[in-house]
Amino acid sequence: MPDPLGDDRLDEKEKMIREQLVARGIEDTRVLEAFREVPRHLFVREKDLPQAYEDHPIPIGEGQTTSQTYMVAAMLELLELEVNEKVLEIGTGSGYESALLSRLAREVYTIERLRTLYESAQDKLKKMGYVNIHFKWGDGSLGWSDKSPFQAIVIGAAAPQIPPVLMNQLDEGGRLVLPVGDRKEQILTRVTRGGDDFKIEKFMTCIFVPLIGEEGWKE
Ligand code: SAM
Repeated sequence: MPDPLGDDRLDEKEKMIREQLVARGIEDTRVLEAFREVPRHLFVREKDLPQAYEDHPIPIGEGQTTSQTYMVAAMLELLELEVNEKVLEIGTGSGYESALLSRLAREVYTIERLRTLYESAQDKLKKMGYVNIHFKWGDGSLGWSDKSPFQAIVIGAAAPQIPPVLMNQLDEGGRLVLPVGDRKEQILTRVTRGGDDFKIEKFMTCIFVPLIGEEGWKE
């Protein structure tokens, strides 16, 4: 997706991919290509433009952040998305990860609980021409039942436990990737559905903003 301002910041993007993703073990070529296609600097506030490709989360307003690129890449790699799949994202935030998901899957359904972020991400992604992303304002901890089942679900906020309601919205073979833990620190976790069985795998420690909602934390 080209930058409408003609400022693609290709060198910074390539450096970020090389030093923050590939050097730390991200190997999935489709994931790396998605990072090449999506201009991260168009998803941060003007005052934060100089740090758009730096190696840390960036504030997006409302006390929220767009996550560190490595953490986003690790989650996308764990999702193992195929081109014909349907994915649910909980926590639209800036819309950056929604744009990446739209390069990896057929349809992206994304839910954000904060109205201002929901509106600005939707407005931005539509103007940028992403046509396979569907937006909802509300509590994503309950999922999006009338659009389920999903082949993949990703939560960009920390959950106190794996929400059973989301496990039930997974398709056969579906993957749910989320940070699980307390409000200070979590473990990146993947749940894979096989019939009524759910395989649970734990990966690295991480720190995310809290998932606020019925299946998350109280505000
Ligand atoms: N991946 C996003 C990006 O690329 O900008 C950043 C996600 S940010 C770390 C987490 C987001 O989850 C915040 O925007 C927050 O408002 C949202 N959130 C928290 N609880 C939620 C819930 N129950 N339903 C939907 N969104 C929620």
